Amino acid sequence: MLDNFLPHTCLCCGNFFRSALRLCPACADRIVFYHGAHSSKDMSVWGDIYLDEYEVMAHYDPVLGTLIRHLKYTGIQPLANLLGEWLWWWCKLPWEVDLICHVPLHPQRFSQRGFNQSLLLARVLSEKSNWTRLPLLERRIYTLNQAAADHQTRQKQLHGVFATRAQFQEVVKGKTVLIVDDVMTTGSTFNQCARALKEAGARHVVAVALAHKDS
Ligand SMILES: [Zn+2]
Repeated sequence: MLDNFLPHTCLCCGNFFRSALRLCPACADRIVFYHGAHSSKDMSVWGDIYLDEYEVMAHYDPVLGTLIRHLKYTGIQPLANLLGEWLWWWCKLPWEVDLICHVPLHPQRFSQRGFNQSLLLARVLSEKSNWTRLPLLERRIYTLNQAAADHQTRQKQLHGVFATRAQFQEVVKGKTVLIVDDVMTTGSTFNQCARALKEAGARHVVAVALAHKDS
């Protein structure tokens, strides 16, 4: 409780302000929020499209980028709660969802980091919506940092990386599944996750991300 009354430093500009949030009002005002769901036809993915629709909360600008990097490298729960609540209240997800899952990390990377920021966000969305959250997907192949690779190479590297976990193969049949991630670029990660879910029999696959980053 005391936390609410102490001055905090804004994660983005470093100014002090009196709130338990980690973002000052001036920085919050700089975030460019989007409106409305996108069709997966807008994605520039390589190969077939498996994802049906997606929502993105905002453009990946310096403010949101800073918050997401903090979340990714510190896993602070209050920050995940803040961003997850924004995601929920802003996107007003327009789908009848049966199951929520997060984009998984490879077990090796998960053990290095100790948490998965997409899972933290998926938990908040599940609490807000009452939709059941399950770790439906696994990442079977360890992909290296793809920053240096070109567009098409990165997308090809994701081919077959994700699979629906054996124990959930029956659970996803005929269901509408929502995939949660922090950042979306081309949409190929979501698309490959959707592919894994549809191969297991999911009827409809939608996705939501905090930010869209130009590739
Ligand atoms: Zn600030």
